[in-house]
Amino acid sequence: MENYDFVIIGGGPAGIGFLLQISKDFKKVLLFEEKRIGGDIFYAHKITNFPGFYEIDGKTICFRFENQVKKFKRNIKFEKVLKLKCFKNYVLVKTEKDIYKTRYCIIATGRKEKILKKYSKLKLKNRYESIKGKNICIIGGGEVALDQSLTLFKKGKNVTIISNGNFDKVNKELLKSVKKITKRIYQFSKILDLKKVDKKGYKILFQSRSKNYKKFFDDIILSIGSSKNLPPINNRNERIILCGSVKSKKMKQGSISFADGVKLAMELSIKLKRGRNENSIKK
Ligand SMILES: Cc1cc2nc3c(=O)[nH]c(=O)nc-3n(C[C@H](O)[C@H](O)[C@H](O)COP(=O)(O)OP(=O)(O)OC[C@H]3O[C@@H](n4cnc5c(N)ncnc54)[C@H](O)[C@@H]3O)c2cc1C
Repeated sequence: MENYDFVIIGGGPAGIGFLLQISKDFKKVLLFEEKRIGGDIFYAHKITNFPGFYEIDGKTICFRFENQVKKFKRNIKFEKVLKLKCFKNYVLVKTEKDIYKTRYCIIATGRKEKILKKYSKLKLKNRYESIKGKNICIIGGGEVALDQSLTLFKKGKNVTIISNGNFDKVNKELLKSVKKITKRIYQFSKILDLKKVDKKGYKILFQSRSKNYKKFFDDIILSIGSSKNLPPINNRNERIILCGSVKSKKMKQGSISFADGVKLAMELSIKLKRGRNENSIKK
């Protein structure tokens, strides 16, 4: 079993930021990604807060990330990490294919969408990627929900938004753009019932401003907030370090996650190179 200095879990902005920076000082670095390089930013309709780009969409930025990390292809494995086991001097990382040993494990696994427990059996989607049909309902009223409505509109879908609030926390420009593409926006709503009616679609009963509605949709996106997406960890200790949006909601911007990856790598690099805690890690 090869020994790594750093195993990074997650190839989103945080994991990539860490990889790019740490690779300047350490060679035994391995990054695991279960899906694709770029992480959640892939779904962004229009990114205007990334350095170097006036305006760019999520797919294009992921394509650029992929190109940027091509030279690290030996350091990247497309495997899902299943669990971690911590020991005093190392961590064992179990993936769907093998077990790896590392001194430090950087967890950059992002966030996972919350579910509606009552309807969990329906396995509602959280992202637009594999959405089917023309009439789509988005349940949720945060920026991720609204942003996806713009992408769906661009793909020729009719979008309805059902939110339990009134969008008071979302970016006003984003809301303005959404209001231009759909009039079917229901605020202060409560889902009363949600069923799969046949193989094709869903029936939703909901209440909005004291009025009851019954609507049919081809597909649904559930986007009602997120929580930490942590793999199972046995005996967690200081060899496990969180990075990017998995740390907290406040990190929910690609640029912040990327910067957090770079910052963490710089801090660890300085600390380890100086041999304050450990002087056996060699370049
Ligand atoms: C619709 C939408 C629009 C957005 N718009 C913007 C925007 O305009 N500007 C902006 O800055 N941000 C935007 N964001 C937010 C941005 O995408 C996130 O803040 C950012 O991607 C978080 O980066 P991260 O690296 O922390 O996590 P993520 O991007 O979520 O990356 C985590 C990665 O870890 C992988 N992973 C998870 N578990 C495992 C495992 N067990 N094994 C292996 N791999 C695993 C995932 O596949 C994923 O690739 C948007 C997000 C969405 C969904």
